[in-house]
Parts: sequence; C-alpha cells; structure tokens
Amino acid sequence: MADLGSKLSSVIGDRTAKVLTDSFSIQSVGDLMRHYPRRYMVRGELSDISKLAEGDEVTILAEVFSSTNRPLRGRKGSIFEVVVTDGTDKLSLTFFNQAWREKELKVGRQGLFAGKVGIFNHKKQLAHPDYEMIPDGNDVDAAATAFAGKFLPVYPATSKMPSWKIHKCVEMAIGSLDEVEDFLPEMIRAQHNYPTLHQALVALHAPTDLESAENARERLTFDEAFLLQSLLVLRRNELKKLSTAARKTISGGLLEAFDDSLPFDLTGGQKQVCAEIEQDLAQGHPMHRLLQGEVGSGKTIVALRAMLAVVDSGGQAALLAPTEVLAAQHLRTIQKLLGVLAQGGMLGSNEKATQVTLITGSQSAPARKAALALAASGEAGIVIGTHALLGEKVEFKELGLIVVDEQHRFGVEQRDALKEKAQKPPHLLVMTATPIPRTVAMTVFGDLDVSTLRELPLGRQPITTHVIAPMEKPAYLERVWQRIREDVSQGHQAYIVAPRIQAGSDENADIDFLFGTESSEIASVEELAPRLASNELSRLRVAVLHGRLSAEDKESTMKAFAAAEIDVLVSTTVIEVGVDVPNATIMVIMDADRFGVSQLHQLRGRVGRGTSPGLCLLVTNSLAQTPARERLDAVAATLDGFELSRIDLEQRREGDVLGARQSGTKSHLRLLQVLRDEHLIESARNDATKIIDESADLTSYPLLKHELNKMAQDMAIDYLDKG
Ligand code: ADP
Ligand code: MG
Repeated sequence: MADLGSKLSSVIGDRTAKVLTDSFSIQSVGDLMRHYPRRYMVRGELSDISKLAEGDEVTILAEVFSSTNRPLRGRKGSIFEVVVTDGTDKLSLTFFNQAWREKELKVGRQGLFAGKVGIFNHKKQLAHPDYEMIPDGNDVDAAATAFAGKFLPVYPATSKMPSWKIHKCVEMAIGSLDEVEDFLPEMIRAQHNYPTLHQALVALHAPTDLESAENARERLTFDEAFLLQSLLVLRRNELKKLSTAARKTISGGLLEAFDDSLPFDLTGGQKQVCAEIEQDLAQGHPMHRLLQGEVGSGKTIVALRAMLAVVDSGGQAALLAPTEVLAAQHLRTIQKLLGVLAQGGMLGSNEKATQVTLITGSQSAPARKAALALAASGEAGIVIGTHALLGEKVEFKELGLIVVDEQHRFGVEQRDALKEKAQKPPHLLVMTATPIPRTVAMTVFGDLDVSTLRELPLGRQPITTHVIAPMEKPAYLERVWQRIREDVSQGHQAYIVAPRIQAGSDENADIDFLFGTESSEIASVEELAPRLASNELSRLRVAVLHGRLSAEDKESTMKAFAAAEIDVLVSTTVIEVGVDVPNATIMVIMDADRFGVSQLHQLRGRVGRGTSPGLCLLVTNSLAQTPARERLDAVAATLDGFELSRIDLEQRREGDVLGARQSGTKSHLRLLQVLRDEHLIESARNDATKIIDESADLTSYPLLKHELNKMAQDMAIDYLDKG
C-alpha cells in the first residue's frame, strides 16, 4: 500500500513513472493525485452534431473526416482545421499553430471531442477542443477502460502521456492508496460539510456523479485558500511580535515644515491614508502596508510624508524604484517638493533640512562613493535607488522605513534583502498603481494592510481614449500623426509607445502568446522613430527611449523631454510607471493589443497630468470583435482602474494574476482562482484566523502545522531557485 509521499514507481511501472516525471514533474503518488482533471466527458450525454447550438458545452463522439493546415492571412501562424462527422452532420475543430496534432487526428479515427460550440463563417466549430482519441485495435483494453466509466476525466496531457493513460495510472494509485490523513481541522471540515481529503481526492478523479465531483473540487479549492491564508495570518502574527523603533510625529520638525511649504491641500483620501500610516509608524512593531492608488492619485506625497516622519525621529528612509528612469525622477520630484528642506549640510541651510541621495547601478564611481558615504553617515535622510540599493556596500546609519514603489516588479526576497540593512526591523510601505480587487490583495499581499487612494487631486484633466484600426480605416493613421503635429504646434508634447525595441526582437517586449503570433510586423522603436522623423513628423524633434540605452542616455533624454527640448518621445514601456511630464498631452500606443489592460491604463496616465486634457490613441491591427479588440474597447470605455484591473485579471491565467512575487505559491494554487473564488477566500481567511487565534503555534493541529511547514519550505526553495 502507498501514501501520498510514496514514490510513483511503487504503484506504477518505472517507465510510465519516468514519463510522468518528465512531462509534469510528477514524482510521488501525492503529485499524481494532485494532477487534477480539467473536466469530465459525460459518456451518457453525447450530443448529435446536428443538434448543437452556439454556446453549448458539448461532448460528441465522431470520426475524423478531413484535416487541413493553412497559414493565417497577414500574420504569422497557422490554423489547423479538422472536420469530424458523427453521421448526423459535420463539425469543424480549429487549433491555432498546432499542426502537430495531425499525428493524432488522422482521417478515419474516432474520438470524443468536447468544448464550447462557436460559430465562425456560418459554420459550427469547436476552437481548441479537448479530445480523447479512441485507441486503435491493439489498445482495446484501454478503450474499454476509458469507456466503462460514465465520467471520463480529461487530464492536462501531452502526446507522450495522453489523458487516458494518466487516467489509468491514477486508478492504479487510488487502488493502492491507504486512507489519506486529513490536515483540515475537523471543525472546519464539518462546518462546511466538506468530504474528507481522501474522499475528495478519490471523488475528483473517479466521480460517481457530477455533484460529488463538484463537492470534491470545492473542498480542494478551499484547502488551497485555507493553507495560504493560514500561512499569511501566521506571518502577520510573527511580524506583530517583532519590535522596532516607534516613529512618532513631533512638532516643529521637518514634516511640519514640509506641510507648511506645500502649495496645495492634501485630498481627503491622502489625509486619511497619511493618518493610517502615521498611526502605524507610531507603533513599536513594524508597519507592513500596501498603498494602492490610481496613477496620479498622489502617492508620492503620502510616501514622502512618511519618510519625513521617520527622518524627524532620527531615522532614514530608503525608496526603492523599479527602473533608473524612475529612481532619477523620484530624486528630482522629491528634491523639488522639499526645496530648501533637501539642502541639509549646506552652509546656511535650514536647520531642519536633510539630504536626499541617489544610488543606482550605472552612476559614476565618485558619485556612488559620495552617495554611499551620505547613506552610511546618516546625513542623507532619504536614499533613493534601484536594485543597486540592495548591494553589499550599501549601508545605513539607521534605516527606519523602506518604501517600495511599484511593488509588482519586486519580489519578497528583494524586500527582505533591504530589510537586512536595518538594525531593527524597518517599517515597510509598498506602493502600487495597479489597483487590485480586495481578495486579490488578500492573496497576493495577504501579510500587508491595505490603504487605497480613490480620488485624484482636483484639477486633474480627463483623458479621452480612442481605438484606431488602420486596417479598417487607413486614413485614421494619418490623422493620428496630424494630431501630434497639431498638439506640438500648440506647445505640447507627445509619447509614442511601441511594444518592441527592434523589429523581430522580443527583448523588452511585453508579448503575450495568447494568439500564438510571432510578430515580425509588430511596431518597434528603432524602426518607427526614424521613419516618422523623416516623414510624417519631419519638422518635429523626435527622440527614442528604451531599456537598451545606457543609463546616461536614458537620463539625459528624460531630462530633455521634461525640459520640452524634445517634442515626441518614441519609447517602449520604460515610460510606463511614474514618469511625470505635465506638458505631454497625447499618447499613441502602437499595436496596443500587445499590452495588458492595466498596462495600457498605466501608460495613458502619462498624459493629462497638466492643465490640458489628455488624449490616448490605441492603434491596433486586431480584428473587430476579437477578445484583443474587446480589451482595447474596454480601456477606451472607462478610466476606472479597479474595473480595468478586474478585466485584466479575468483574462489572465492564475499564475500571472499572482505575479512573479508568488512564484513559490503558484504550485500550491492549482484550483483556486482569486477572482472567481472570492467567497472561498474570505471564509478561508476567517477560518484560518479562528484556528490560529485558538492555537497560535498550531500545537492542537499537528497535521495542519506539518502541511504548512511543507508549503512554506517549498516556497522558500522556489525563491532560492530564482536566484
Ligand atoms: P502617483 O505617484 O500616485 O501616480 P503623484 O504622487 O506623482 O501620483 O502625483 C501626481 C501629481 O499630482 C504630482 O504632480 C503631484 O505633485 C500632484 N499632487 C499630489 N497631491 C496633490 C494634491 N493634493 N493637490 C494637487 N496636486 C497634487
Ligand atoms: Mg508615482
């Protein structure tokens, strides 16, 4: 008999075990039991092709009638189309860039095909259906097994390890499996009326009816949410136990002087968030707070006020930015906001003043040496930098607060590397301009408290967004360039964003392979900029900005753009986050369908920051009514970042929703979908809190404790792997 920890080869043959390991990293019986079916084909409910209606989820038994592979028009890639028939009618199955399926879908062979019926060119079709070919004569046994059960599980499969083979392995594993111990506290299980872990695993792979399969799936989905939330609650409790220097606001200090000098009033939202932060900082344990707010909602000032409060109490603050452009800009913005208050150490300077310094990877040796000295001596109250801040040589006199800008680009491990530079655990403020729904925040940033800025400062100009489809209306592209010329002639500036640096390269390009296109025709900065500069925009000053330029070039280009010495900046998404040039009024995004919804929203936040309204034009070759086009229409239709982030998240796979930060978590979240499963996450959070309140170190729940330790260890290993 076996348990979940047993080696796979103890229940199935060595060779098969090896293929499973190679294909899916399945090593133990437990791994195999966690290789969940994607769906079931219901043998008793096969449909006739002639009776299919658009939108139906169907399974049909049919024979391959013909197959063709044809290239796509105007794009790279091909469509592999298979026509099948069950005698009542024909149906086409389409696969994108998957001509290799020809080997399996041979004319004359029979199979089960499942998917959602769509209509294309007036013909019924299944796009990317699941299928299960009925093995040829020599595999009669397998065919018999496959057809015996009413519910045939469909597994994620490969050509070497098709679904029916996996099914057989799972059945063998179940046959030799001892009763699985259940880590979920009985109280919680009973309260939700869930099956035991053993029952759930068996029911998911070999359901007797659809209801028991669904209960099993819910239980296992809940498990994922519960384990993750337990880990996060434990982590939060650990943090609460840490002690650090409380940073109480003082009167007559730098913060007060700054507030007095501020030319505008804080918005209601800023005041509230500042109060929350002030309260956190005054505690004897480190703050762990996420500050989310729309682009332009004024997060920088909120963060700066927190930094000043820390400086007032004798500490230093570090501001970690994702790019050099952004770090340099933070330096400029903060120096400008502080004015004389940033001129500490200078003769005759304000006695409350501090210094602000910058540490980046590309700065000159003398500049770096000076900055390192200021940080180490404590003379610099605020140290701004990129990843370079994490370097070994960087020391602080008393690091009291870490501010991380645009969190999604940093992992926990980097945050932790910076924390180690502090004598006592520092306070942490994480800022993100991608607003995320509550349960996503709970899952991704579950160990952080969340503050949200919802309103934009008064006087903000609206941004109008239009989708431009030159394939449908060729003249519109010329209108785009004309509009840029008009805006520039009125003294404004423009951004043009392209997905790539160079034609045909995909470095720095944010390409999703959703459509499988390889994109030699995708706009690139290096092709576009010279072409526009010598044609449509020949009278304008055009410059380029992208990640492959040297730091000095980037910095000088950004400075020149900020000083209005450049009219049109053609760039990649390096300008995505935080860049602030209020005189820029128009942004043209080429091949906009190549970008994510949130990313487009971030990008367009670069315009309309001054006194003139902003215009964003999304240029696309995607076809009307395709998902790509619908995403662009959604961006054009609303300025609500929360709504867009939801649309964005809904279209992504779960791993991407959780982001790189959670790479270690991904493998533990197979079923959980943070948007769909909001109620499960909420109740898992409550249950986890209840259990941990009752038994803080989980001594009453040894199995749960063991499971969490395993998971925490996996996650730690993952972090190291990324090294
Ligand atoms: P975010 O970092 O959230 O995108 P910023 O902090 O860069 O936004 O703020 C955007 C602009 O709004 C900046 O020019 C900033 O000086 C200005 N700003 C911030 N708060 C206010 C306010 N309360 N009133 C007026 N302008 C503000
Ligand atoms: Mg910002």
